[in-house]
Order: sequence, then C-alpha cells, then structure tokens
Amino acid sequence: MARIVMKFGGTSVADIERIANAAARVKREVEAGNEVAVVVSAMAGATNQLVGYVDQTSRMYDAREYDAVVASGEQVTAGLMALRLQEMGVAARSWLGWQIPLKTDEVHGKARIEEIGTDNLDPRLSNGEVAVIAGFQGVSPRGRITTLGRGGSDTTAVALAAALKAERCDIYTDVDGVYTTDPRIVSKARKLARISHEEMLEMASLGAKVLQTRSVELAMNHGVRLQVLSSFDDKPGTLVVDEDEIVEQQVVSGIAYSRDEAKVTLVKVADKPGVAASVFGPLADAAVNVDMIVQSVASDGVRTDMTFTVAKTDLERAVAVLEKNRAAIEYEQLIQDADVVKISVIGVGMRSHAGVAQTMFRTLADKGINIQVISTSEIKISTLVAEEYTELAIRALHTAYGLDAA
Ligand code: ADP
Ligand code: ASP
Ligand code: MG
Repeated sequence: MARIVMKFGGTSVADIERIANAAARVKREVEAGNEVAVVVSAMAGATNQLVGYVDQTSRMYDAREYDAVVASGEQVTAGLMALRLQEMGVAARSWLGWQIPLKTDEVHGKARIEEIGTDNLDPRLSNGEVAVIAGFQGVSPRGRITTLGRGGSDTTAVALAAALKAERCDIYTDVDGVYTTDPRIVSKARKLARISHEEMLEMASLGAKVLQTRSVELAMNHGVRLQVLSSFDDKPGTLVVDEDEIVEQQVVSGIAYSRDEAKVTLVKVADKPGVAASVFGPLADAAVNVDMIVQSVASDGVRTDMTFTVAKTDLERAVAVLEKNRAAIEYEQLIQDADVVKISVIGVGMRSHAGVAQTMFRTLADKGINIQVISTSEIKISTLVAEEYTELAIRALHTAYGLDAA
C-alpha cells in the first residue's frame, strides 16, 4: 500500500465523460490499496475563458480579483470529480486551496506556495477517503484566494506529494510523456523514458508546457518521484529523475519553443556608462522581466542599438515605461515586434561537447532563417527568430541533432 498523488490536466477533465474516465483510474488505484490524493485542473478552455472575462472587464485589473475569478474553474472540477467518485462507490471529498490550507505568498497571479497544512488531509487519507484537490489555487496570508500562475496545478500536485510524503506523483495529461520536442509540432518527436530534472527544468522554463517549471524545481528539491503519463491509454510515461540515473546521455536531449516573447529595439541609444541601468531599472520597477539582451559596441563610438525581449503580455507596459523615460534614456526610435519565437536546444551533454551552437546556426542558415538574438547558458542555446518559421526551424533542428524517431 502506498500514498500517491494523481493530477489530471484540463483535457483529461474536459467534459463529464472524461471526468468519469479519470475517476475510473483513481478507483483502480484505490482498489489496489493505495491512499490517493487527486489534483484537478479546470476543464479544458475554462481558465482561458475566465481570463478573457477579466480582460474584457478591466484592462489594468486588480490581481486579487483576477485570482478570485480564474481560480473558480478548478472548484467546479474538484466538486464534479468528488461526486463521480462517490457515484462509483469510492469515498471522496473535494478541497479548495484555503480549506487544506495551501498557504502562499501574496503575489497574486503567480503566487508561490509557502506551506501546506496536512492535519485535515492526513487522517482522511489514512481512513481511505480520496481527497480531490482544486489545483492552481491557494490562500494568501491575508486570507484571500491566490493562483500559482498558468499551468500551476502541476505545482499543486508536486508540492502536495512532498507535504503528504507520497510515494509518487503522477501527472496525467493529453500526451503519453515528455518528448524530445512538442509532439504536436514535430510528428517525429520521440518519447523519453527518462529525463533529468535539470533538462526538464530548462525545457519547462523555455516553453515546453507539459510541466510547470516550479513543479520540476519542487520535485528536484524534495525528491518527489515525478511521472508524466497519458490519461487516455495505459502506456508507460516519462520519469523525471536525477541526472546520474540517465544511462545513455545525448548531447542535445530536447528542443523547446516559446511564442510568449516580444522583441523591443531601442535605436541609437548613447554608448556610455549608465545607459543599461536607465533602460532596465524602470522596467524592473514596473515588474517587467527582461529575458534576452543584446547590445553591440557603437560603430561610431557614440550611439548603438539595444535589443531585448519581454513577455508578450508585458509588451504594452514595457513600451509605456520606455516612452515615459525617453528623455532620460535618450534613444532615437523604439521598434516593437511581437511576431517572434524563441527556440532553444537543451542538453546536459553540452557541458562536454563543442560545436552544438554551430550546428544550430548552420541548420537555421541552411533554411534561410535569420537569427535575431542569441543567448546561451551551460546546458542550453536559445535563438530568437520570426514566428512564421516556428515549425520549419524546430523540425530542421530536430533532424540535425539526430532526435527524429526511427
Ligand atoms: P494539461 O492540461 O494536462 O496540464 P498542458 O497543455 O499543460 O496539459 O501540457 C501538455 C501539452 O504540452 C501537450 O499537449 C503538448 O502539446 C505540450 N508540450 C510541449 N512540449 C512538450 C514536450 N517536450 N513533450 C510533451 N508535450 C509537450
Ligand atoms: N487551469 C490552470 C491553467 O489553465 C492551471 C492548470 O491547468 O494547471 O493555467
Ligand atoms: Mg498544464
């Protein structure tokens, strides 16, 4: 007998029939003698619809009310899942974030979990009652509802697995594991039997939506046995493990992409001390995160261009901040471009292999794709290209790094 956490994503609870299908999986685990905590997302599309309602009501919205609205999707599925389990003869009860309580900080819209109380859940799980937990939501120190950022139910599941000392955390989704790249873009993508925490962390933070970045971080730090698998079939999934558990190490193990970035270029800023600070200081004050940055040396020794990327959702705010500070920064022109995609190749093997970047640049060049910005770190290389090349670039790179399925 073991204690386990099972998480079902939006497509896995998209309608009443799918909730029943997920409930049947839960029942199987209960009948096998396990204590089960279930974490559910909102029905597919529900969160997007709720976000849309907020946007249509208030452009510069109050984040506390955003959370009050968008957290509601998970309440519906938690109740329905508990009801379905009861109908199947399985003892079950729904739990909202505040009822657990799942305590977070006060950063509404992307709150971090601080503590999970287990006094309520522990005895009930031990008694064989299934706890059905609304993912994505928590409660702030002031008692208000918070949400954990898009994709946050993954993080609820892993954090709960750590708090409840569960033996494993199974993330049921609409693909049967983690692939070398998004299988919806590259049909030759290969399923990985195992992926290291480090690589999964990079894949997630560089755009692979299959797991929320924070959930991978928590799994790594708390030693949670994390698995991604399909809620629609019984194939084995992908295990996220420590690096030393990977036997056959590839130089590049995956390719991720993100359409969530936008590019800003400040034309002809002064090439003098303090300019970067005058640009990025006000952006930081406005809580705009900057990702990739390039600045070249001024060819005339006086003025240069500065290019960087921000989240697409922050673009409007970033431009407003920069225009307000135009006199202090002294740039000639501001160019914004939201039609870009960041494509990244990831692999721990890069630490010990040369030429990985060159393969990327050559492959994109051969397809006539211009690289607008480049950034690298120990185990990844990212390039920014025009969004229209997303599929072409990823497919070509997938082949170039020998990742295609046979
Ligand atoms: P859920 O609603 O179950 O949380 P998500 O849509 O958040 O599901 O995540 C699953 C999706 O992640 C898949 O449908 C797939 O398109 C996408 N994805 C992106 N990169 C990968 C990858 N490397 N491996 C598997 N899926 C990926
Ligand atoms: N429903 C939330 C979202 O769509 C959380 C999740 O599904 O993980 O972002
Ligand atoms: Mg998700």
